Amino acid sequence: MYKVLALAGGVGGAKLVLGLSKILKPEELSIVVNTADDDVFHGLHVSPDVDTVMYALAGLTNETTGWGIKGDTFRTLSALKKLGNEDWFQLGDLDLATHIKRTSLLHSGKSLSQATDHLARKLGISHRVIPMSDDPVKTKAITESEELDFQDYFVRKKCEPAITGIRFDGINNAKPSEKFIEAISEAETIIICPSNPIVSIPPILELSGITELISNFHGKTIAVSPIIGKKALKGPAGKMMMELNEDVSSLGVAKRYVGICDLFVIDNTDIKEAPDIEELGINVHITSTIMNSQKDKITLAKNLLSLISS
Ligand code: GDP
Repeated sequence: MYKVLALAGGVGGAKLVLGLSKILKPEELSIVVNTADDDVFHGLHVSPDVDTVMYALAGLTNETTGWGIKGDTFRTLSALKKLGNEDWFQLGDLDLATHIKRTSLLHSGKSLSQATDHLARKLGISHRVIPMSDDPVKTKAITESEELDFQDYFVRKKCEPAITGIRFDGINNAKPSEKFIEAISEAETIIICPSNPIVSIPPILELSGITELISNFHGKTIAVSPIIGKKALKGPAGKMMMELNEDVSSLGVAKRYVGICDLFVIDNTDIKEAPDIEELGINVHITSTIMNSQKDKITLAKNLLSLISS
């Protein structure tokens, strides 16, 4: 019996978590997801990373975009635009049902953890999906001239402005969710998914007490590099690392995980970086980490699980 806690952002995390969910029983896997890029659109609470993970586990993912629900349509968004709302944040008709239900649960007094639990169960997901916090944390992208809300930077401005920093507004007052703490205390292994190392994993780690709990964790912490061949497979991780003067490489990501990670998994492409990562005091495992097909996701997940006992 395994007890695995996966820490995940959106697309990269959702792929690995799907692989893990095909091998591990519901009681063997908990997934804690970043909520610092949550925002409100049309009065609805949207949790992009939580939804990406839930849709992956429910078999609903739109494989072309990596987010949203396959086959979704955008008629409601068009109608909202006609009524004067903005439509730069794409929300499909089926996807909107998730946000409507989440918002009504929150309005009725439920926490984000309770609302997520409800949604996940109704979507037929049996593994535990846990928001990192029930308190608001909001990622801000800092540029030379202004500070942007994350979705404004990420979606509306398509990550075009160069960033000079990132700030997680509210992080000092936000508590990790109760279920997150419970999942750490029960876990035997922590897997840091290949998610954005600047905006997806750091908010989870920076919640009060979490880095300490992970540094002192009795089991193994394994991280998978989201950078392959000195670039991100998708999204702005590489661009952000470059603008923040970090090495855009697996080594650059490993530097961020010193002290919390025992084993760093890098792609075959990056074999030459292994000695420098080991110099940081982190063991390295080299394998294929590109997850295009369901088979790739399961193979990587099996590979990681085999490292737990080795
Ligand atoms: P975001 O919310 O779209 O930024 O999604 P994530 O937080 O999951 O981070 C995106 C990161 O996931 C990028 O650095 C990608 O390179 C990484 N990623 C996406 N797919 C894969 C994959 O198949 N394998 C690996 N190793 N990384 C991946």
